[in-house]
Amino acid sequence: MSRVYNFSAGPSMLPLSVLHKAAAEMTDYQGSGMSVMEMSHRSAVYEKIIADAEALVRSVLGVPDNYKVLFLQGGASTQFAAIPLNLMTKSGKADYVVSGMFSKKAYEEAKRYGDVKVLASSADKNYTYIPTFKPEDVRPDADYVHICYNNTIFGSKFPAIPDTGSVPLVADLSSCILSEPIDISRFALAYAGAQKNMGPSGLTLVIVREDMIGHENPLTPTMLSYKVAADNDSMYNTPPCYAIYVAKLILEWVRDEIGGLEAMAEINYRKAQKLYDYIDSSKVFTAPVEKGSRSIMNVPFVTGDAQLDKKFCKLAEEAGFVNIKGHRSVGGMRASIYNAMPEEGVDALIQFMREFEQNV
Ligand SMILES: *Cc1c(COP(=O)(O)O)cnc(C)c1O
Repeated sequence: MSRVYNFSAGPSMLPLSVLHKAAAEMTDYQGSGMSVMEMSHRSAVYEKIIADAEALVRSVLGVPDNYKVLFLQGGASTQFAAIPLNLMTKSGKADYVVSGMFSKKAYEEAKRYGDVKVLASSADKNYTYIPTFKPEDVRPDADYVHICYNNTIFGSKFPAIPDTGSVPLVADLSSCILSEPIDISRFALAYAGAQKNMGPSGLTLVIVREDMIGHENPLTPTMLSYKVAADNDSMYNTPPCYAIYVAKLILEWVRDEIGGLEAMAEINYRKAQKLYDYIDSSKVFTAPVEKGSRSIMNVPFVTGDAQLDKKFCKLAEEAGFVNIKGHRSVGGMRASIYNAMPEEGVDALIQFMREFEQNV
């Protein structure tokens, strides 16, 4: 069997031991005589899987008791509409920090439902930094402030959770969930598509404070209602059963093999630091994102010469470093080094970049 170092931004690498476990349980899940894909979501055996997954989300992420954990579908992008429909219903206003492509999309979607303002933006420098704001800049009657904590495409991350005063904070954690300890109690709602750090695509995790639920716009589709999802324990309809099962295996991997989020963070910061240190010392490659705003999950870098970028990507692919081409809006390269990317993968990439540098 041969595995490549897969630097895809998502769907992305999963831990090998998780894939092995899923493979071993594929045709007969724990004596049930069937695959998790084949079983009724109302069966006792599946109910235990989803209950275990929820308990793991709560313990690994440190979710406070007054929050609901919802397993939904439609990807993070569906939440761009679900959030304003469920939460932008008191003043009908919300403030958005636009720090990249996904936060821009979230902002554009929310605008369809109310009075939505850009609170801060880094569009002026092609999103190469995290824009700042003061709590006084937030409209005091806004129903919430929305941020994207880690910007997958541009490779930036908030250095800390921003202070929004008494206005509830909502965060897209799609590309940084499970990467380090994040204080969930600072958010009224946090959400993430699973396919970066938490499993296969098709599953979206929503963690929402109970008092935020039940004030939805009456036109909210049933399938987008947090109240309906919460009242039905994420089983109003058939949930993404298999994706939830794989997420459970990944949560177990973080807890048991890694040793929790503190240990995960230590590995992730070490991996990212090595790569940025090399890039910052390189004469060929540069990292466009400002130092105080850099992501530990997505590391964009460029040579400044589109032809050379192309050559690098081609040679990298041949050498087994795949999906390293940057997003079409940024160009260059991007190494997504999520939890499942082993440290050896980052070391090998740095070595490969050094050799490339010596030969240009
Ligand atoms: C990938 C990603 C999305 C989009 O997720 P989908 O599940 O494809 O809808 C949204 N926000 C962030 C931060 C992402 O990384």
